[in-house]
Amino acid sequence: MTLEQAHLFSQGWAFVVALCVGSFMNVCIARMPEDRSVAYPPSHCPSCGAGIRWFDNVPVLSWVLLRAKCRACKSPISPLYPAIELLVGCLGLLLFRQLVPSPAELTLGHFAAWSVYLTFIGMLVATTYIDLRHYIIPDQFSVYAAPFGVLAAVGLGALGFDGGPSWREAVVGAVIGAATPLSILLAYKLLRGEDGMGYGDVKLLGMIGAFLGPWPTLAVVMIGSIFGSIIGIGLMITQGRGFRTQLPFGPFLAVGGIIVLFFSDTLLARWLPGLGLGAYGGSMTPTAKALPSVAATKR
Ligand SMILES: [Zn+2]
Repeated sequence: MTLEQAHLFSQGWAFVVALCVGSFMNVCIARMPEDRSVAYPPSHCPSCGAGIRWFDNVPVLSWVLLRAKCRACKSPISPLYPAIELLVGCLGLLLFRQLVPSPAELTLGHFAAWSVYLTFIGMLVATTYIDLRHYIIPDQFSVYAAPFGVLAAVGLGALGFDGGPSWREAVVGAVIGAATPLSILLAYKLLRGEDGMGYGDVKLLGMIGAFLGPWPTLAVVMIGSIFGSIIGIGLMITQGRGFRTQLPFGPFLAVGGIIVLFFSDTLLARWLPGLGLGAYGGSMTPTAKALPSVAATKR
């Protein structure tokens, strides 16, 4: 096998792994809001309780072969399942092509970075759905995940991957990420006597900060606020004045996190040129490359 073939093969492998991560996120989406374990019991049909065997649990493919029906009771299976799998699968493949753009990056460090940021994407996709549907942000994907962002920074640094934030930047990112919505929350409470954001947003941005570092996290806040305002104002216009919408903010932060992951260097260099971040958007130190590799290496 030539290096080029190995590179092509690894992309197919990455797509399959990302589809499986999407499949696991479906389990999280279904169980986490109800505080059920994601490991036990094994997957079963929510209608009839029949166990789902491995050949009926293949991402996307099984849904197509079963024609969207449970094998045992024939009750319909939501198209949401293959949709989430395909979404995470495609984002995972895109991420792989950015982190490992040529056979030269077929290294342990780049593979490790890919798995870290694929997990990050999976958590944000699941959080988006759960927050839209249930108005909660799971602790497992926010406050409990933040320390893993710092650990990942340590591990990736040790493996020689210099594209992500250093562990110090991960810590500062988590603090800034949590402090930004917290200050808005407290200010809003002082001025209006009510909550403008939820504490879930504080925890979620803390996690995003731990994985992306401080500058990209501020970009996530900016993008999330802009998107949120546009949708919020749109809802106010279409639903009439005085419409008090329960619009969760988490999905905007989560989508912002994915956008910044893919575009952090170009976004920051364009909108915050005064910081001198250049092509290394995520980093506070100009000598270290930040998330970069995610965006920079492709072009
Ligand atoms: Zn069934």
